[in-house]
Amino acid sequence: MVTLHEGNTPLIPAPRLAEATDPSLRIFLKCEGFNPTGSFKDRGMTVAISKAVEAGSRAVICASTGNTSASAAAYAARAGIRAFVMVPKGAVAIGKLSQAAIHGATVLVVDGTFDQALSIVTQIAERHPVTLVNSLNPFRLEGQKTGAFEVVDQLGRAPDYHLIPVGNAGNISAYWRGYREYHRAGIAKELPKMVGFQAAGAAPIVEDRVILEPKTLATAIRIGNPASWGLAKEALQDSQGWIDAVTDEEIVRGYRLLAREEGIFMEPASCATVAGLAKMVKAGRFEPGSTLVLTLTGHGLKDPDTALESATRPVSVPARLDAVLAQLGL
Ligand SMILES: *Cc1c(COP(=O)(O)O)cnc(C)c1O
Repeated sequence: MVTLHEGNTPLIPAPRLAEATDPSLRIFLKCEGFNPTGSFKDRGMTVAISKAVEAGSRAVICASTGNTSASAAAYAARAGIRAFVMVPKGAVAIGKLSQAAIHGATVLVVDGTFDQALSIVTQIAERHPVTLVNSLNPFRLEGQKTGAFEVVDQLGRAPDYHLIPVGNAGNISAYWRGYREYHRAGIAKELPKMVGFQAAGAAPIVEDRVILEPKTLATAIRIGNPASWGLAKEALQDSQGWIDAVTDEEIVRGYRLLAREEGIFMEPASCATVAGLAKMVKAGRFEPGSTLVLTLTGHGLKDPDTALESATRPVSVPARLDAVLAQLGL
């Protein structure tokens, strides 16, 4: 097993988020940014890379909005095999790119979209001896479903609603699979409603059409033609859940709220859930007194640029006590 001891991430209560939205709700944050490479992708990557090595593969390939490449690069390094990653030009947060680079992956920056890159790597994996580790690789979702197992283990039950950002739509499908398996095994008596959120400029499932040029500052979910579209629709229908879109402005508001009120710094795509929470509370979509879990998919340090642009900028001061006191207003 090729592992970096992924998983077992904390499920943290969020009373301030409840206070800021609907105090009757019990809100918990599944902090997936605390995985070894800083995103939930590690749960799937440990399985995908382990199975690739088992099958004798010497190289893996993926297209990525950033976190898959960071994770693939780290687990490939751990396994002693090669990683080839393709990322869309100008649309990957700097932290993720630095991870792929330092772990020794071959990084190709493609002048095109994630969806185009995915199409290319899929064709390569069909014809050459490299294993595809995008979520089209079935082992990815098998690993990612453990997120749902842990939520039930930590909460002692399944939540009433599970809120999650949707990009390529693998994770919402994986969580639903995990919840169903625990339910079938009698470990969870309930099943949650799955509630997905896409960014308004990249909302193919919400709009029910392929988006050729998806746009959002939440680069991890900047995807116009999700690979797991069908599985995600099944998850939404079977769970009696729903999917909605949130604007970049709402995402940034959620991003700041989470960091300032709860002390938790997650990347913008993660905060589509916080934005969605606020929007859905306003629309009266949650039964009062319900238990909600939000998956926070990736760490905030992945994308320091957006953090600095979204908050009060650091101020320069001369190295003098009076000047510092004047700046601080003390
Ligand atoms: C990959 C990713 C998503 C989207 O997950 P999908 O399985 O592609 O829907 C959301 N947030 C972050 C931080 C991610 O890395």
